Amino acid sequence: MPIPSASFSPTGDPWLLTPGPLTTSPSVKEAMLHDLGSRDHGFIEINRRIRERLVAIAGGRGSHVCVPLQGSGTFAVEAMLGNFVPQDGKVLIIMNGAYGQRMAKICKYHRRFMRILETPEDRPNDPAALDRALAEDREITHVAAVHCETTSGILNPIEAIAEVTAQRGRSLLIDAMSAFGALPLDARKVPFDALVASSNKCLEGAPGLGFCIARRSALEATEDNAPSLSLDLFDQWQAMEKNGQWRFTPPTHVILAFDQALKEFEAEGGVEGRGGRYRENCRILVEGMRALGFETLLPDSLQAPIIVTFRMPVDPRFDFETFYDALRGRGYVIYPGKLTVAPSFRIGCIGRLGAAEIRGALAAIEVTLDEMGVTDCSPYRPLRRTGS
Ligand SMILES: *Cc1c(COP(=O)(O)O)cnc(C)c1O
Repeated sequence: MPIPSASFSPTGDPWLLTPGPLTTSPSVKEAMLHDLGSRDHGFIEINRRIRERLVAIAGGRGSHVCVPLQGSGTFAVEAMLGNFVPQDGKVLIIMNGAYGQRMAKICKYHRRFMRILETPEDRPNDPAALDRALAEDREITHVAAVHCETTSGILNPIEAIAEVTAQRGRSLLIDAMSAFGALPLDARKVPFDALVASSNKCLEGAPGLGFCIARRSALEATEDNAPSLSLDLFDQWQAMEKNGQWRFTPPTHVILAFDQALKEFEAEGGVEGRGGRYRENCRILVEGMRALGFETLLPDSLQAPIIVTFRMPVDPRFDFETFYDALRGRGYVIYPGKLTVAPSFRIGCIGRLGAAEIRGALAAIEVTLDEMGVTDCSPYRPLRRTGS
């Protein structure tokens, strides 16, 4: 087999097949070649435009507003929980991975009353169990859920969760970080009070900015709830509504890049176009890896087209660090697994990547396995399955 030469992005960087930071387009990077003052009229207009577009992507025109916030995605998750769950409220966190656990950790820091509803990492959230928990525990005021749990790449049934939560008269908060822009979520059909995502996942901007899409009436009710000044979404919103400016130094370059990224998002056909490219990336990846003998953690029916978890091969010649470094040398960065259910690694489908990059990664994986002398990529099997 011909050995593919190392393949790098137009800027000479490796392709990032990870959960973030992600590969951005050359034009998104170029958009950052300006220094703007925070009171610049053009800059204020860009902020207005970005906020409006984000609300539109969420189907929230007329009902919802957008509050951007400096920082990585977690800052926005923490701001959402701290603002929306009042001190005398109680939040039910539905979890099946590390990002659900992180929400619980945040609530502990802020001493919010909480309850946890957990399924294993390879099982989706259970709307029937949610319904029972809400019927039984009257103190619960809010439900917090993760749309795509990036730990495994599993797609959670957010529509059913929203329906149950609304029927039980509670308020839904969504961590849609790794799904927003690629998986449909429309406020007109899926009722939620707040959702958070960030600039550098499926919207393919530069990292450094999070945002909350909130139902206006719900956000208005959060005045004085925030446990922290810099994460006070209500205050940030009020300031922005007043003069279009940020309360504190805005990440101007990140915002310029985000404006360009949103133009490219629209040019690609919005959620449908972006999601379509990722689905194709995911399909090529999974087929190619299965052809090499790897197994996915999840069945196709539970897999979101965002990031795929592969089970670690049992072959003793397979060493993850060696595998990782060799792929990095060939221009492809993958990601370790974070699962507790099984040893694994992950390969992402999101960011500025298409079929050519996924095929390139598969070719690099094949050569690397050859070099390592790995002949069997099937994973470790529990004893009960050795009889076959
Ligand atoms: C990436 C991600 C976050 C935020 O992570 P940061 O590292 O803080 O940007 C939160 N939730 C989910 C589901 C994610 O995928």
